[in-house]
Amino acid sequence: MSETNETASFGTPFFIDTHCHLDASEFDSDRDVEYARATAAGVGIQIVPAISRDSFATVNAACTRYPGCLPAWGLHPMYIGVHRPEHLADLRAQIDTRRPVAVGEIGLDLFVRDLDYTTQEFFYVEQLKIARDYELPVLLHGRKANDELLKQLRRIRVRGGIAHAFNGSPQQAGEFIKLGFKLGFGGAFTWPRANNLRRLAASLPLDSIVLETDSPDIPPVWVGRGRNAPGELLRIAQTLAELRGVDLDTVARATTHNARELFGLT
Ligand code: ZN
Repeated sequence: MSETNETASFGTPFFIDTHCHLDASEFDSDRDVEYARATAAGVGIQIVPAISRDSFATVNAACTRYPGCLPAWGLHPMYIGVHRPEHLADLRAQIDTRRPVAVGEIGLDLFVRDLDYTTQEFFYVEQLKIARDYELPVLLHGRKANDELLKQLRRIRVRGGIAHAFNGSPQQAGEFIKLGFKLGFGGAFTWPRANNLRRLAASLPLDSIVLETDSPDIPPVWVGRGRNAPGELLRIAQTLAELRGVDLDTVARATTHNARELFGLT
């Protein structure tokens, strides 16, 4: 991206949605509309992570069609049923074909039952090695798995990354930060009863926070049970600013700077 000024010329703040599945089939009928709505809301960059080898094609298509979309390639832990060991070689080939901003979405999910842990760990560890080899940050999916994620990150040192949809303790947040990670916050903390998340969003250092929507998932409270979209990032940022008692520009500038630095976007 050639955008170097973090505030657009007409005064709208510039945001980066660090986690958005714009390639998902939920957007097949109106992807152009949602991309335009996000751009109008100041979301100038969206990071679009793959979830499986088959999704490399849809992510690539979205990131070719939309100049603000940047890909991440990876094999998501919730889809271990479709991953095969040879997909790791395909992942390397994909990185060689189109350099991503990160390896992702990878990680561990101990919340969903019936996801074999050994298989999840195998793909997680192997993809950390790939990220290390290519000197790329990682986008981590972790549910009820922060300590397990951290254990491998201490063994296999990657160039930082994002603990996406972070929900853990302040101590676990601190451990991620020590390893060069940012913590991703999105729609979940906008729900009034999300006490732990709201406390974290209000109190963690702003230089460790990045914004995300995880569209079409994790809708904010005003979307309810509906489909989330990257254009909601502006209001998510406003909610974060209110929680922290700072203005929107402060949140925009800090979170955009954090993401640019992490992904090497100048
Ligand atoms: Zn995701």
